[in-house]
Amino acid sequence: MKALKFLMTAVTLGAVALSGSAFAQDKGAIGIAMPTQSSLRWISDGNSLKAELEAKGYTVDLQYAEDDIPNQLSQIENMVTKGVKALVIASIDGTTLSDILKQAGDAGVKVIAYDRLIRQSANVDYYTTFDNFSVGVLQANSLVKGLKERFPSTKPWNVELFGGSPDDNNAFFFYDGAMSVLQPMIDSGDIVIKSGQTGMDKVGTLRWDGAVAQARMDNILSATYSDGTRVDGVLAPYDGLSRGIISSLRGVGYGSGDLAWPIVTGQDAETPSVKAIIAGEQYSTVFKDTRELAKTTAALVDTVLSGGTPEGLDTKTYDNGVKVVPSILLTPFDVDATNYEKVVVESGYIKAEDLK
Ligand code: BGC
Repeated sequence: MKALKFLMTAVTLGAVALSGSAFAQDKGAIGIAMPTQSSLRWISDGNSLKAELEAKGYTVDLQYAEDDIPNQLSQIENMVTKGVKALVIASIDGTTLSDILKQAGDAGVKVIAYDRLIRQSANVDYYTTFDNFSVGVLQANSLVKGLKERFPSTKPWNVELFGGSPDDNNAFFFYDGAMSVLQPMIDSGDIVIKSGQTGMDKVGTLRWDGAVAQARMDNILSATYSDGTRVDGVLAPYDGLSRGIISSLRGVGYGSGDLAWPIVTGQDAETPSVKAIIAGEQYSTVFKDTRELAKTTAALVDTVLSGGTPEGLDTKTYDNGVKVVPSILLTPFDVDATNYEKVVVESGYIKAEDLK
């Protein structure tokens, strides 16, 4: 009995000591609402954010909503009810959260839009993201570089355009950035959008769903390219869409015989897509170091909750329909077969053995 009591005391003391070292101080709870685990980047974002915030002494409630809007809403409602001090939200539909954010704001909860802008709400305190217009510029520049390299003598190039989810503000920045490069080439006749499908209302891909992109590519190939002409390039704004598009292209024989792969772009440097770049199926992706975004966001949360003033804010670019949200914009990088080792492997983002 005595021994048992001693053991229990030791265990309790151990637990106190452990939690004491894991959480230097208890600075309160932070809610992190992520969109989905179906894409590797959000898993990495969630894990990095949690680790960074815990290291600063916060407890963390990390939730994924699997791209279901009501699910994300109820997760955020629970966090507010539980009394979190701040919310870090990568929204699914950035216009659907106004009521709960009003409640959060009234309760003094700080709200940070993470990677995706939350629209139509005054209760968004900060926005941390990458330079999203630049992402689109990088994608289009890489598409043009690839076209020149792979098809030097077959101008005009036949290109098809894909956009991201129309309920994600980022999708418009990516598309506009890309079109700032491509539109002049379309106007000059160097690039032809053979399907005639342009504009986010025609090329957007709801919920960034790879299967939707694959089905649209199937349709374009049968409606526009069954006359024997070839598609030379595809602007794809996210690796998950690129993989769907590549499957569709493979289905009609691209990548075999004398049908060279079109130049296909992407975003997020997801492991299967970096593998596809090494295999020559995808041409490029855009690397956004989610570890840095998490670190920057955790530091911002800590500064704001400690009563400090954040520095280095962009106060012009991101108008959410109600106000310009002060933002921190990190830099995205173009990745292709020539530099993936340096950019994504040497930086430790992907392990070399995971690319075998
Ligand atoms: C992110 C991209 C991502 C896409 C799909 C966007 O909001 O900025 O990095 O590829 O969502 O998850």
